[in-house]
Amino acid sequence: MIKIAIQKSGRLYEDSLRLLKDCGLSIEDGLDTLKAEVRNFNAEILFLRNSDIPQYLEDGVADVAILGENVLIEKGVNIEIVERLGFSKCRLSVAMPKGNEYDGPQSLEGLKIATSYPKTLQGFLDENGVTASIHLISGSVEIAPNIGLAHAICDLVSSGSTLFKNGLEEKQIILKSEAVLAVNKKSLVQFGDIINELSFRINAVLKARKNKYILFNVPNEKIAEASKILPVLKSPTVLPLIEEGWSSMHSVISDDDFWDVIARLKAIGAEGILVVPIEKMVV
Ligand code: ATP
Ligand code: MG
Repeated sequence: MIKIAIQKSGRLYEDSLRLLKDCGLSIEDGLDTLKAEVRNFNAEILFLRNSDIPQYLEDGVADVAILGENVLIEKGVNIEIVERLGFSKCRLSVAMPKGNEYDGPQSLEGLKIATSYPKTLQGFLDENGVTASIHLISGSVEIAPNIGLAHAICDLVSSGSTLFKNGLEEKQIILKSEAVLAVNKKSLVQFGDIINELSFRINAVLKARKNKYILFNVPNEKIAEASKILPVLKSPTVLPLIEEGWSSMHSVISDDDFWDVIARLKAIGAEGILVVPIEKMVV
């Protein structure tokens, strides 16, 4: 049985749990706040703090985990990322009070910078030959400049609204991060089959989320043209309609070129266009 660690509460919790459930894992959440059994998969879920997960993974307390890539990098542990999960996207950035000039990393020379990510920041400063003093704070880093604790901060940003509310401006991106599936290397040897199965399912769910199933009606003489518009998996399905001279075409399109494809299909006379979500996709 493998132990899968996910965040106990916070930004990653809901998406992580939903991903595992979409993979068909039936998780008995409720009673125990630390762990949950999975009825139909050879696994147990551990609910832990995101920032503690790298250590638990390294120690083998957890075999697999869903966590923010940024904490793996900060802890510098020897853990393998097997899948990038596409949610909880954020960046670790240096920000300064509005109006402060910034002409590149050298502008940080001699400053005091508050952060919860001292190693990652130090790495960035070293790479750029900059000496600055790092002030470690575990939370609410964005208030540090306002209370005179630091000249700048280095913190996670997604929309930038927290920075804005605190009169700060993002000056420099240090790292881009998203949620990842990470594994302990020994577990990969010991539980390769189960971990591969989980990773296979996650792939199928993520691929499905990025694509839509599309069906529409076209006059028969437009079938060839419509096929060219569709960026198909193999080749589109064509079914005859009862109405003479018309067919229904079915295919899969990616979210990215979705509106473009629809506009072009309409332009050649496609009608009754339906777009449906896909639950799992194995190609
Ligand atoms: P924990 O309190 O569980 O130890 P944490 O302090 O990292 O962990 P959260 O604030 O819930 O907990 O953030 C979890 C992860 O979500 C972060 O490590 C990061 O990968 C991601 N994240 C995405 N957007 C943001 C953001 N705007 N601010 C902070 N984290 C973000
Ligand atoms: Mg926290």
